[in-house]
Amino acid sequence: MSVDSTEASGLSSALHAQTRAVHSATPADTTGSHPLSTPIHQSSAFSFDSADALAEAMAGPDGAASYSRRGNPTVRALERALAGLEGGAAALATASGMGAVSAVLLSLLRPGDHVVAQRCLYGGTHSVLADLAERFGIEVDRVSGARAAELAAVLRPRTRLLLVETVANPTCEVADLPALFGLARRHGVLCVVDNSLASPLLCRPIEHGADIVLHSTTKYLAGHSDVIGGAAVFADRELYGSVWRRAVELGSTAAPFAAWLTLRGIQTLPLRMRQHCENAAVLARRLALRPEVEAVRWPWLPGHPSYAVARRLLAGGGGMLSFDLAGGRAAGREFVEGVRLARIALSLGGVETLVTHPASTSHRELDAQALRVAGVGAGTVRMSVGLEHVEDLWRDVEQALEGL
Ligand SMILES: *Cc1c(COP(=O)(O)O)cnc(C)c1O
Repeated sequence: MSVDSTEASGLSSALHAQTRAVHSATPADTTGSHPLSTPIHQSSAFSFDSADALAEAMAGPDGAASYSRRGNPTVRALERALAGLEGGAAALATASGMGAVSAVLLSLLRPGDHVVAQRCLYGGTHSVLADLAERFGIEVDRVSGARAAELAAVLRPRTRLLLVETVANPTCEVADLPALFGLARRHGVLCVVDNSLASPLLCRPIEHGADIVLHSTTKYLAGHSDVIGGAAVFADRELYGSVWRRAVELGSTAAPFAAWLTLRGIQTLPLRMRQHCENAAVLARRLALRPEVEAVRWPWLPGHPSYAVARRLLAGGGGMLSFDLAGGRAAGREFVEGVRLARIALSLGGVETLVTHPASTSHRELDAQALRVAGVGAGTVRMSVGLEHVEDLWRDVEQALEGL
């Protein structure tokens, strides 16, 4: 990585992630004194002293703030912070993770294009691709993400884009980004990766050849279960410019208060992520020893199908795990209703531990065969491990297991 003090975030890339996260809230210009926290520029539009000055501001993504759908100083502070953390040239903050996914796919794909997508993608991303395939004649092939050979077998002259997730949900499969991106780039295929579950603290996909890194900042980056947001970070400014223009047309850009909450969350991301990983490691190891549990999936647990690539690619095992209860569907439901500290809720990556039973909620419309393909069993429980004291968490898990 080059040491360059003039990168997008304004911070030297030689700094550690902990330092970059704390100093990500670049204050806006003021007269002489500087706020430590980025102000919330809660203004829909900005006035100018002349018509020419406004026209100049409207020329592209880098002009002065003119209208907040096109850019806002608080949102730009978040974009600089995200570009800095991911090592990208520029970032686009969006109203949700899906806002980033949709803006990128709708901006870059044309009828007749071919896309290679990972089989276990987030449900919403899967739906966008299915929609594009049906309505715009975009063809999609699916791969596991574990081996470059699978990608080689489906590449075509019209392959435009490869879409994978660093860590998939709820299987915790880790895509072999260097192998996949190495091959894709040699064929001129754009490499897009959803890095929501890893966060830039555990993996920076641009260092492995990604062109675009997507985030649901709702998850670990904001981290406090209080805001919906997303982002796309670009290795290259030109690609950023074309997606920015489409995101402005789609109206999927971020609002200032949401951006502010996300910036505030990012400042403690390194501390939180360390604790998420430590707590998940303890729970994963102990769950694996319980007779009620058939299998545990956590990327850094020896025996996980992605263990080798996870140790190579990730700086930690992450805060998400899933496990299969021997008692099947009934046990899965009883477990999530039996925990007292952990709550039943969608989402992940927040300070509090959340559990779901995918077979009866997020994946309820899938039949047995489709569940198998998604890596979800009838008795699978997904757990987003929070920041509570790990012994309190374990006691909660233990009493729920004993109640089965
Ligand atoms: C939650 C999530 C999304 C969607 O993000 P929203 O902020 O809910 O729109 C996309 N990808 C992954 C991996 C997610 O976990």
